[in-house]
Amino acid sequence: MFPALRYSVAMKRQCPICKKPTDSEADRDFPFCSERCRLLDLGNWSSERYVISSPAFDESILEGLEREIAEETDQ
Ligand SMILES: [Zn+2]
Repeated sequence: MFPALRYSVAMKRQCPICKKPTDSEADRDFPFCSERCRLLDLGNWSSERYVISSPAFDESILEGLEREIAEETDQ
């Protein structure tokens, strides 16, 4: 509907890594200011995914413990 407005919004961004102002025309790695920041962002994502995919504890072990405690208190 407003292509001119959308264009101007898309032109100026901040580098998500170092918060440097970036320009979609000037920066080849837009919205990042440089390839270094683009790779750093990729690294952040892969390390976050690694943390999420490795649980701190196994919930089934916790459930088993709760059942054992409940049985002990019944007697
Ligand atoms: Zn940057």
